[in-house]
This record gives sequence, C-alpha cells and structure tokens, in this order.
Amino acid sequence: MVRRVVVLGAGYGGLNSALQLERQLSQSKDRNWEIILVDRCNYHQHVIMIHEIAANSTAPEEAVIPLAYLLNGKRITFMQGDVKDVDLGGQQVAFDSQRIDYDRLVVALGSETSYFGIPGAEQNTLGLKSVDDARRINAHIKRTFLIARNSSRKDRASLLTFVVCGGGYSGVELTGELADWLPELALANDIDPSEVRLVVVEAAPTILMGYPAGLPGKASELLVKKGVELQVGSPVAEIGEGMVKIRSGETIAAHTILWTGGVQGPAALAQWGLQTGAKGRAVVNGYLESVSHPGVYVIGDCSLVVNPNTGRPAAPSAQMALQQAPHVAENLEAELVGGQRETFRPAGTGEVFSMGRRHAYAVLGRISFDGYAARLLKEAIALRYYLNLGGPALVMEKMPGALRTTAGGARLLLQRRGLQTKG
Ligand SMILES: Cc1cc2nc3c(=O)[nH]c(=O)nc-3n(C[C@H](O)[C@H](O)[C@H](O)COP(=O)(O)OP(=O)(O)OC[C@H]3O[C@@H](n4cnc5c(N)ncnc54)[C@H](O)[C@@H]3O)c2cc1C
Repeated sequence: MVRRVVVLGAGYGGLNSALQLERQLSQSKDRNWEIILVDRCNYHQHVIMIHEIAANSTAPEEAVIPLAYLLNGKRITFMQGDVKDVDLGGQQVAFDSQRIDYDRLVVALGSETSYFGIPGAEQNTLGLKSVDDARRINAHIKRTFLIARNSSRKDRASLLTFVVCGGGYSGVELTGELADWLPELALANDIDPSEVRLVVVEAAPTILMGYPAGLPGKASELLVKKGVELQVGSPVAEIGEGMVKIRSGETIAAHTILWTGGVQGPAALAQWGLQTGAKGRAVVNGYLESVSHPGVYVIGDCSLVVNPNTGRPAAPSAQMALQQAPHVAENLEAELVGGQRETFRPAGTGEVFSMGRRHAYAVLGRISFDGYAARLLKEAIALRYYLNLGGPALVMEKMPGALRTTAGGARLLLQRRGLQTKG
C-alpha cells in the first residue's frame, strides 16, 4: 500500500525536508510512497534576504525560485493552496476546495507576525515576512519620496520620518539597509538627506537583546554612526495612522511605520489541536514529532525545540529549519522503509547579521569579526544555499551579481592580507 507524506509549507524547512526525503526514498527498493508538498505560493522564497529587497539593494526575482524548477524530475507532487484546516484525527488536510489524506504529516508553515496586542499595530504598519511584503515596503518608500519632493518643508517632516518597530535581527538588518538607501533616495529627489529621520523603537534595553555579548553594543554604534536614532527601553503603547506612541508618552509622527516586532507560531496550530507552548509554537519531542500527535512532525518557526545543550527553546531561524529538514527526512525514512529514528540535537553554527550593503557582524563560536569580510560571508551563505538547492545553474541565473561581488571581494581581501603579511 502506498504511504503518503504530506509536507505543509515550501519554505526552508518544508521544501528541504521534502527534497531530502525524496532523495533518500528514491534509493530504496520500496516504491510504495509518495510525497505531496503544499504551499500557498508556487515558488520558494529566500526570506533571509528580503530586507535587501525592501531597501532596494536586491531585486525581488533573486529571492524567488519557482517550485516547478526545483521539483523538476523529482517524485514530489506540488499542490498550490492555502492550508485552512488539518483534521489530525482523520489524517486529512484541507486547502482551498480540496481535502487530501496523509499517513505522515510535516508541518512547516513558518510563523505569523506578533503584535503583542498593541492597539493599531497590525492596521497601521507594514510588516516584513515575505518577498511580497518587501516589495510593498519598497514601493511605499519610493512613493513617499515622490510625495515629499512636492510637499512643503513642514509636511515633509513626517513624510521623511521612518520608524522601525522592533530591534531584533530582522529589524536591525532592515534598518542597516535603509540607512544606506534613504539618503540616496533623498538626493535623487532633490531633498537634503539631513531631513530624513530613521528611528528604531525597541522595548528591550538594547537592540539585538539576547545575542552574543558585544554584538548589541557594536551594532548600536554602527547604526548611530549611520545616522539612525535608537530609542531603546521604549515599548510602543499604540500605533495610529501616521503616529507611533511610546509608553513614556512621546509620540513620533511618521508616514512610514515598519513592524519587525516579533513572530509567533501560526494560530492554526492550536486550533487544529496540536499541543503548543511558548509563542504558540508546537511542542515536539526529540524526533521533532508533535508530543500530542505521533506521526505529525513539526519543523522550522512552527516548532518549539528545546536545545538540549542549553535547556532553553532554540531561537527560530532559517539555519534551524535547515538543520531540522534533513533530520525529519531521516526519521521519516526510518518509519517508512525501516530503521531507527534519531534524536535531533541542534548544532550551533553562529550568526551573521548584515548591517547595510558593506557591513556585517559575524559571530562563529568564539570567533567574531565585522566589516566587509563579514558582509561577504553573508553573501557567501546565500550563494551556498542556492548552490545546494539548484547547483551552479541556479546561482548563475539568480545571483550573478552576488557571485561577482563575493568572488571579487574575497580576492580583494586575500590581496590585502597578502600585502599586510609582506609589509
Ligand atoms: C528580514 C529577515 C531576515 C532574516 N534573516 C535571517 C538570517 O540571516 N538567518 C537566519 O537563520 N534566519 C533569518 N531569518 C528568519 C528566517 O527567515 C525564518 O526563521 C525562516 O524563514 C523559517 O523557515 P520555515 O521553513 O519555518 O518557514 P518559512 O521559510 O517562512 O516558510 C513557510 C512556508 O509556508 C507557507 N505557508 C504559510 N502558511 C501557509 C498556509 N496556511 N497555507 C499554505 N502555505 C503556507 C509560506 O508561503 C512559506 O513558503 C530572517 C527573517 C526575516 C524576516
């Protein structure tokens, strides 16, 4: 009898678990399996670079890969649809007008934006979770400058004020890019760049709270040097049309309010009956299987994984989803064609934060460095991902510019090192 694995979500976790499982199962003699991948989009998104799209330094096409291209020749059926319901008892998934049965389910639907119940936050801000969101922000900012160039200096004050709510990594990466782009846009629209105000509002006492020691301070220093105003220890009380009210009482008038405040597991997980924990993420056991529903694996931002090395929930990230994907594939293979399931142990691979077009911070275990070398490392990580997914052809098609920059930059750095050594 054919056993069907349904994978929900074609993001980092879902796509890569489906691809890996297909590779493994294709090598077994057993042909009684099928894999169905479901996503609302018919393309895979390279989410870790969308802040660059928002701030005009990367074209949206670079971060979007058609699933037809990635699944070509693979024994994976793609079905496009918005997953609305999962009947965990009846082992059925419902999306759009279809219902499909499953024997094993992988839930990899990513996360939802968390607004912490702040009045007006959802209605009056632009979020950054997908390539479409990034496009929207990019178009909004360009439009805002066009309006500003034809407005009086008084009206321009709020038009040229940009507030980023949330100083976690996505907020900081976005701010770094905007700090490079907004002054250029001002000049292109005959506006004095000093009229532009870019503010980060963060409730915690520092940006990048909880990240390795030294990083928050260095990142703050760099942003301030780029002209960014940091309002830390400043929880947002309310957001209205064109205004952000801080709990201290101060109100910032701003035409552009961007929300990077935080993420939580999709509300649907609990509605379907999966046991959820902190931030609405599904609680999983060591095999990455729902503790309430055996046979349902949950990975990526959806899952609440406790890092056995620290005893604390692992932070959701693309690199975590990419570690979980092959692991779930191994465990599914063990279940489907025989073998022993293994316990997942997250490996610490470090963090690289981009801080604009030419700067980044890298923390790799005990080693940390910043500047252009770290920025090149960030580019190289993106390139390596495409290389693993679709080989050199995909890199050449999607990222020829990044490839040239990385190769050229690496050569430059090596030359500089050589000169210093000789000197
Ligand atoms: C600006 C920004 C920068 C980031 N930078 C980094 C970084 O440098 N390093 C890092 O490790 N992480 C980074 N992250 C975090 C990282 O992108 C996420 O942790 C990662 O995308 C999670 O992977 P995932 O597979 O769980 O979900 P996703 O990649 O979000 O994929 C979820 C998929 O599910 C689909 N989907 C969702 N709901 C439905 C539904 N109801 N029906 C059908 N399909 C659905 C979506 O279309 C999507 O394809 C960044 C995030 C942002 C926003």
